[in-house]
Amino acid sequence: MTLKNQFLPRTIAVHEGDEPDPNTGEAGPSIGMSSTFMVREKAGFSAHDLGADTPFVYGRWGNPTVDGLQRKLAALEGTEAALCFASGMAAMSAIFFSLLSAGDHLIISDVSYAGVAELARDTLPRFGIEVTAVDMTDLDALEKAIRKNTRLVHVETPVNPLLRLTDLEAVCRIARVAGALVSCDSTFATPIATRPAQFGVDLVMHSLTKYICGHGDAIGGAVCASAELISRINVESVIHHGGVLSPFNAWLIARGAGTLPVRMRAHEENALAVASWLEDHPKVTKVLYPGLESHPQHDLATRQMDNFSGMIAFQVGGVAQGEAVAERMMTGFEVIHYAVSLGHHRSLCFWMETAGLMQTSFRLEGKQLESYRAFAGDGIFRLSIGLEDPADLIRDLDGVLG
Ligand SMILES: *Cc1c(COP(=O)(O)O)cnc(C)c1O
Repeated sequence: MTLKNQFLPRTIAVHEGDEPDPNTGEAGPSIGMSSTFMVREKAGFSAHDLGADTPFVYGRWGNPTVDGLQRKLAALEGTEAALCFASGMAAMSAIFFSLLSAGDHLIISDVSYAGVAELARDTLPRFGIEVTAVDMTDLDALEKAIRKNTRLVHVETPVNPLLRLTDLEAVCRIARVAGALVSCDSTFATPIATRPAQFGVDLVMHSLTKYICGHGDAIGGAVCASAELISRINVESVIHHGGVLSPFNAWLIARGAGTLPVRMRAHEENALAVASWLEDHPKVTKVLYPGLESHPQHDLATRQMDNFSGMIAFQVGGVAQGEAVAERMMTGFEVIHYAVSLGHHRSLCFWMETAGLMQTSFRLEGKQLESYRAFAGDGIFRLSIGLEDPADLIRDLDGVLG
């Protein structure tokens, strides 16, 4: 069903886009796996013939299960429309490649998801797109980076892996004056914590693989935006580049999204308990969690986030100490998995050494490197707090911290 606007997020998460089957009465949606659809009225053979009300024709052009998830995501983000992709990276590529052309300029947060940072730095310039990386907490630097041909400003908040925040309202104000669009990777926040469109962001991007799916069993991505921007991205990036979300994954992700609001409450509660415990641990030299008063941007977090999410970063001293603890985690954890990814019901932890990330993903220097190191030092553990009992997570961490 398509719910009307007055419903609240927990209700929207459960019901929006989940139609009972009118033929069988099945209360929950089935998975529509068919790749083609019976055409019952005149239809063209090009994706350009598709209108908003065109019935389903072919699975790469549209699918009822994916469509249901898109309506749920748009309703949760408070945007007119949403579009799903095979992965978060496919969603990000769609924004870059459908909105930027040769001769355009992109400003991107100097720290962003590693794959996004590498795509912007290594691939976009090959297509004639100019790219400038800016520390988005330095608004003067952002203003100075703006050029006549700046078309897009891309931010991520809280940023992976630093948990540094970006003031969305301030960035949008600067970008609007320059006539540039703003996109925001909101994967760490989820629509339960932050709805970037409320602050003026034009395109909200998610890796659905993380909190929105929530169970670590499906990869997917999404862009939430105005109907006009979504229809531009749809023909070029979904239909022609072809990175569609499979209906099976859409079904798993929609099932996960139904419990997103209650899971985010539990992630936050657990993360606050673990982060507070880590702060008092003698071997832990720094803890970064937006919900702690010690977070350098706690005020901004309180203004911009309705939920502090479940991601923690912490340090245990230098590289040698970090590597030793990482090694103990690989064999010593009983509950937490030493693994990449995040936002699952299972807790996940991974060591991220600063020097290594500078060589591969970020390549920061000078002030930007200093700003990175102010958060991460020589390296951080990225800890994605799951839904286990926090007492068991604390015991697990205590066992490996030594
Ligand atoms: C995982 C992640 C991505 C990439 O998403 P995939 O689904 O793995 O392609 C992008 N941004 C952030 C913040 C992420 O955590």
